[in-house]
Amino acid sequence: MKNEKPSIMRPVPLPASASRPVVTPLSMSVVYASDTPDMLDQQYDGDLQGYTYSREGHPNADVLGGLIDKLEDAPFPGVVTSSGMAAVSAVLLGLTKAGDHVIGGNQLYGRSLRLMSEDLPRLGITTSMVDPCDVAAVRAAIRPETTMILVEVVSNPTLRVADITGLAALAKETGVLLVVDNTFTTPRAFKAFDAGADIVIHSITKLLAGHSDVMLGYVAANTQELADRMRVFCVTTGMSPSPFDCWLAERGLLSFELRFDRAQSTAATLADHLAGLDGVKRVLYPSRDDHPDHARAAALLNGQFCNMVSFEMVGGRKSANAFTRAAEGLNFAPTLGDVGTTISHPASSSHRALTEAKRAELGMSEGFFRISVGLEDPKTLCDVFTAAVAASQG
Ligand SMILES: *Cc1c(COP(=O)(O)O)cnc(C)c1O
Repeated sequence: MKNEKPSIMRPVPLPASASRPVVTPLSMSVVYASDTPDMLDQQYDGDLQGYTYSREGHPNADVLGGLIDKLEDAPFPGVVTSSGMAAVSAVLLGLTKAGDHVIGGNQLYGRSLRLMSEDLPRLGITTSMVDPCDVAAVRAAIRPETTMILVEVVSNPTLRVADITGLAALAKETGVLLVVDNTFTTPRAFKAFDAGADIVIHSITKLLAGHSDVMLGYVAANTQELADRMRVFCVTTGMSPSPFDCWLAERGLLSFELRFDRAQSTAATLADHLAGLDGVKRVLYPSRDDHPDHARAAALLNGQFCNMVSFEMVGGRKSANAFTRAAEGLNFAPTLGDVGTTISHPASSSHRALTEAKRAELGMSEGFFRISVGLEDPKTLCDVFTAAVAASQG
């Protein structure tokens, strides 16, 4: 075989087309070629718009980020990250320093709680976990070195609604940043910046993308300075998202509002249905009169009560096992926001590290389940729950 000269590999020219794609092109390129060193200088200086290296940014992340900015009314472009936890980390690690004190809601997402209780203290950042429904308690926890308060609007899994109005006023008065993880509520139910949040976080993985096939996060801030610091931290620590994930999430996001409205309306129906079943001790859903934060939810969530329903059945682990086994067609899986309804069991998943006594104190017995309502026909879904609850009490 004769020795051929190596060919010029790239770029491979695209076929000409007078028409345009209607779908956002997927740009998997890690590197972007510039014409000259002068141009590259201008790109790095920000005088010329252009991509260089995909950890630093790429078109699919910017397209997705722009769509979420619009949903959230974000004052400055947000950062898309490789997961929701990367977004939480960008805030908690990227904006703090040794000596700071951070307050977190006492029912935060499990990994956020862990970051606050295990990792921040290791780095010299002290933390306090406080009930975000109790503004007086949060006020009492504020110290001279407190720099931020991180809360979720609706807590997991007891669906308590934080007093965001009170917390926003407190944060403003004391000069502390209010950080809102808006994953459960989404901008459809809660506009966090309008409500006074300084920083808004999302796990795009959940309702925004909505199909359990992509893991991504988002964080935006109400000043350019905070937004820049988080963006630089994410690029430096490699929290950057994959273009393909961003492309998938963009596709999911196109139907987000329709999915949310449908899932929420079914959730309200299912909550009332569950409350009428034998063997069900209590149902937690914020639109119900018997929910402890009903009035606040009605005022804060603009008539939207989200797609999460929690309930407690009579019986222990044996009944719980019988229930998930009998819940035909529903996945028993610790996630939320999928097109299909999923059931989770805090005692064996998110809250398994707690003692039974501690769980009881939080109102999470073995019979406690959290449902992320999906897009099934409401009547069919109610029938599945009727049968599964009956089987559990068998
Ligand atoms: C899932 C979740 C996260 C973490 O998001 P990932 O995409 O799984 O990393 C953070 N906050 C809340 C409220 C969540 O539900």
